[in-house]
Amino acid sequence: MAQQLLEFLYLLAAISFVLGLKYMNSPDAARKGNILAAVGMTLAVFGTIFLYQNEEGMRLGHKGLIMAALAIGTVIGTLMAKRVKMTSMPQMVSFFNGMGGACAALISILEFNEMQAHAASHAQELISGDYSSAHITKLLIIFAGLIIGSVSFSGSIIAYGKLEDKIKDFVLPMQQIVNLLVFGSALVLSGLMISGSLQGSIWMYSVLGLALIYGILFVLPIGGADMPVVISLLNSFTGVAAACGGFLYDNKVMLMGGVLVGSAGTILTVVMCRAMNRSLTNVLIGNFGGNKGGGPAKSGSGGSIREVSATDTAIMMKYAQKVIIVPGYGLAVAQAQHVCHELEELLEKEGVDVKYAIHPVAGRMPGHMNVLLAESNVSYDKLVEMEHINPEFNTCDVVLIVGANDVVNPAAKTDPSSPIYGMPILEVEQARQIVVMKRSMKAGYAGIDNELFYNPKCGMLFGDAKATLTKLVNEVKAL
Ligand code: NDP
Repeated sequence: MAQQLLEFLYLLAAISFVLGLKYMNSPDAARKGNILAAVGMTLAVFGTIFLYQNEEGMRLGHKGLIMAALAIGTVIGTLMAKRVKMTSMPQMVSFFNGMGGACAALISILEFNEMQAHAASHAQELISGDYSSAHITKLLIIFAGLIIGSVSFSGSIIAYGKLEDKIKDFVLPMQQIVNLLVFGSALVLSGLMISGSLQGSIWMYSVLGLALIYGILFVLPIGGADMPVVISLLNSFTGVAAACGGFLYDNKVMLMGGVLVGSAGTILTVVMCRAMNRSLTNVLIGNFGGNKGGGPAKSGSGGSIREVSATDTAIMMKYAQKVIIVPGYGLAVAQAQHVCHELEELLEKEGVDVKYAIHPVAGRMPGHMNVLLAESNVSYDKLVEMEHINPEFNTCDVVLIVGANDVVNPAAKTDPSSPIYGMPILEVEQARQIVVMKRSMKAGYAGIDNELFYNPKCGMLFGDAKATLTKLVNEVKAL
């Protein structure tokens, strides 16, 4: 009976994961999707703790310890999620993803040691072909989970450090060859262990060490505009590693959760690769993008810029027919989303058509701008993705760029030596007037100068985005 109930809970959980993911397709349903999937996960976790029994009818032991661990994890996770600043969200995503990878690797270590402990008692069975093929399959899954989980863990922690600006880009001499050697050694050792040519925990820990090193080497050189791809790739790794755990425990809901995370992460990776014009192979072997070797930012064109005032900008926008706002990382830093929405509402009341142009990698994590603007209740139909908004710029009177830089940098189209060359950008230079709101002439994430600022159509409105938008709101009201 308990087993049937558990199977039923697993089914509910699996349905909630699929529906949750489906709801995450659109920003207005994403919150509902998240809650639904979380409820499903809670059912699966508590169902396993209280109802699971193995073939010999044994229930899960150490419930007190499990509950204590759950309570500690829940408190830490909740506090982190509540306290995190919107600008630090990518770091947190990366950190949590790393924890998932670590869990998958720990499962593999435990299961390997368990197998070792039982090897003697199963010596007789080992001789029979059936057991030995099951044994090989189990080892295969253990090593897959170990390698993928460890790469995901150490890679995510490095990604966390880089996004926190605590770890700098670092490229080893012959980086790709070193990467391949380390990864190849982990695979060869695993193969030898699976085939039975090598035995003993020491080799398993060597594989663990090599995989951890590979994760570090793999992420360390990556910088510039390519970080989002790596984060979503590591996310998919964690999913695959968790799926290995599902195989090991013959737990269908764990398998399914892992597969969903793995495939969603992979799809996101492919979409991000396209958005940044990088090939996946290039991502997998590491050492791409970035400010090649951490050199200085490319110097400016030496042209002159034109400053505009808040009053001029307010007049331009109030009497425009169509205004497109391009939000970027600076909007998140300044926490200017609410006042931005206020400006949009004000302009709409004056009869101006206002839209937001959303670049897939604007900000510091996939969907950063959607999350930020959703927080300030911007209507979802006003958020227009890059490929749909680009043809609209030539019909637009004023483009207001709020704390965005790389995602509107024409060098991505015109300068083959630029680290962001090939990345599709928002084609703001097609608009009649461009106003860029930022604090200084400093570069964005990719560390490169932006030709757009020297475009005769472009006016620079210097200052903190929140303070400047507040001024703009007051100016529009006063007109
Ligand atoms: P950028 O990082 O290119 O530029 C942001 C600009 O905001 C800066 O030039 C900065 O200029 C300005 N700014 C910072 N603080 C403020 C403030 N308080 N008020 C006003 N302006 C401010 O951002 P984009 O969104 O254009 O591009 C995102 C970049 O981040 C891309 O290169 C992308 O690849 C990368 N990235 C994206 C991730 C993702 O998943 N979306 C993850 C990791 C990286 P100033 O200092 O002069 O004010």
